[in-house]
Amino acid sequence: MDAVFTKEITCTVCPVGCKLTIEKDGDAYRIFGNQCKRGHSYAIEELTHPTRMLTTTVAIRHALHSRLPVHSSGPLPKELLFPAMKILKECCVNAPVRCGQVIVRGILKTGVDICASRDMELV
Ligand code: SF4
Repeated sequence: MDAVFTKEITCTVCPVGCKLTIEKDGDAYRIFGNQCKRGHSYAIEELTHPTRMLTTTVAIRHALHSRLPVHSSGPLPKELLFPAMKILKECCVNAPVRCGQVIVRGILKTGVDICASRDMELV
C-alpha cells in the first residue's frame, strides 16, 4: 500500500491566492482549500507537470537600451526554464524590434516561441 503524500502550495491562477493542500493516495488526488474548480486543476498539474511562463531579457544592438524584455508565448515545462535561459543569455538581436516579434521560434523544440515584449527603435 502506498503512503499518503501531502504537499501545500499556493494557487496562482487568480489573485485570491488560495492555500491548497494536495493529498496523493496511490493514484488518487484529494485537493483541499481551493475556492473553485480551476484551483483543483492547477494543483494536479502542478504536481504532475508543472509549467511556468518565462519572462526575461535578451541583448539588443543599436537600440536606446542594451536589453530587450521578452516573454514566452505559452507555458514551458518547469525543468526547461534554465536550459531556455541559457539559450537566451547567448541571444542578441538588432534593433528595430516590434512588440510581439518572434525572437526565438519554438525554443527547445517545445513549440513555444520567445517574443519581444515591447517595441525597441533603432538609434
Ligand atoms: S482556487 Fe480558484 S479562487 Fe482560489 S486562487 Fe485558485 S483560481 Fe483563484
